[in-house]
Amino acid sequence: MIDRAVRVAVVGAGPAGIFVADALLKSGKAEFSIDVIERLPAPYGLVRYGVAPDHHKMKTVINTFHKTLDDPRVRFIGNVGFGTTLTAADLRRHYDAVVYTVGASADRRLEVPGEDLPGNLSATEFVAWYNGHPDHATRNLRLDAASVAVVGMGNVAVDVTRILAKHVDELRHTDIPHAALDVLAQSRVTDIYMLGRRGPAQAKFTTKELRELGELPNADVIVRPDEIELDARSADTVAGNAILQRNMEVLRGFATRAPEGRPRRIHLRFLCSPTNILGSQHVEALQLEKNVLDERENAVGTGLFETLDLQMVLRSVGYRGVALEGLPFDAKRHVIPNQNGRITSEAGEPVAGQYVAGWIKRGPSGIIGTNKPDAAETANALIADLEWLEPAPEPDPSSFDRLLEARGVPVVFWNHWLEMDAHEIALGTSDGRPRIKLTAFDDFIARVRSMTTSG
Ligand code: NAP
Repeated sequence: MIDRAVRVAVVGAGPAGIFVADALLKSGKAEFSIDVIERLPAPYGLVRYGVAPDHHKMKTVINTFHKTLDDPRVRFIGNVGFGTTLTAADLRRHYDAVVYTVGASADRRLEVPGEDLPGNLSATEFVAWYNGHPDHATRNLRLDAASVAVVGMGNVAVDVTRILAKHVDELRHTDIPHAALDVLAQSRVTDIYMLGRRGPAQAKFTTKELRELGELPNADVIVRPDEIELDARSADTVAGNAILQRNMEVLRGFATRAPEGRPRRIHLRFLCSPTNILGSQHVEALQLEKNVLDERENAVGTGLFETLDLQMVLRSVGYRGVALEGLPFDAKRHVIPNQNGRITSEAGEPVAGQYVAGWIKRGPSGIIGTNKPDAAETANALIADLEWLEPAPEPDPSSFDRLLEARGVPVVFWNHWLEMDAHEIALGTSDGRPRIKLTAFDDFIARVRSMTTSG
């Protein structure tokens, strides 16, 4: 048993990582000293860079996360990338246990011809762009398409559709960066086709998000009554599920509503799959195949096609986890193989002192709160392993800091982040917004690091 504070590295400062740190601290089972290591200078992962900017209330969970990172037993170590600055071996050398909570940073593809034509974009990139993610904020994006397809029927597709459908003035009070607001102000979008390969009983969105589409003053929602008719199996599925019943109520309401001539139109289309993205230099049209459902509720093509004239395709068909150097990976499920959060080797054996939580553990599903029980399971596994943990050869925090210094990384510690946070909020206050995010950090990092010490 380790007879000093147990040193834990949590890799990734998103909801899963912070919930793990919180669960360990609250367990009271040992003294912990936790470093939350994050590739970006800013913490909070998808709460900062994924949750829709017009869903500000959802971001208030940041207040809880702030408390965890503010705990004296926790250090935030930002601007330090796993795989770029650090290796799995470095972490094993300096920590008794490592928990990987890196999420699912890539996106899935449609695998149809024309997918690489200009005018195709993943929702992951679009969401990151309007949320001011430093990797995407400077992207030269133009919204000169009149018609856009959003492929997918999950909540990300709904978010993207809603942002495209809103008038820019409905978004000016959010933390969308100025550059993205300028592009949204120039948007020529009039028609947004949200496309589901299966029927309404199989759609992944939640009722609140669906209903919100029908409340947008700038857009009519159009649903074809024939596309929301349920086959016998889907009718049974809906009958046994209260959420689906509410979704159907909302959709039936949309289907009976006459368009009111609003500037933009959201077409919710079901049972159609993109089969070909057409165009010579740029997206010009999308070919769809009409589907039916088989006995397992999978989509099956009917051989009947239609073509929509449109100039942009946003695929919103799910995020995808990527392999981490030096760790096992399940290339089929795009997760790190694990048993209740304990990373397992190729042979299926738990690897001592190595854990996962969040999307890289279970795949990209669930809401922010889903990560809490998921993180608790991982924290419990780590706690149960405490007496078998192999003590780290160099557990002293200062020896890890020296390693980072030797690698020339301008680390963003918690006190540095607090300076940046206050700066963003002050910029926002003078503009009537919750904050204005920094999208390029280098100058600011140099400034705060010269003003303050680590902490
Ligand atoms: P998701 O919920 O898994 O939805 C993905 C959608 O893409 C599904 O409709 C899926 O259809 C479709 N799809 C997959 N492959 C396809 C293909 N080849 N062709 C056509 N359609 C395809 O994923 P997500 O929307 O990215 O959301 C990720 C997670 O974040 C979810 O758990 C979501 O609830 C959560 N989230 C929550 C909120 C919120 O609470 N407001 C906001 C955003 C995200 P099939 O069902 O047929 O596979």
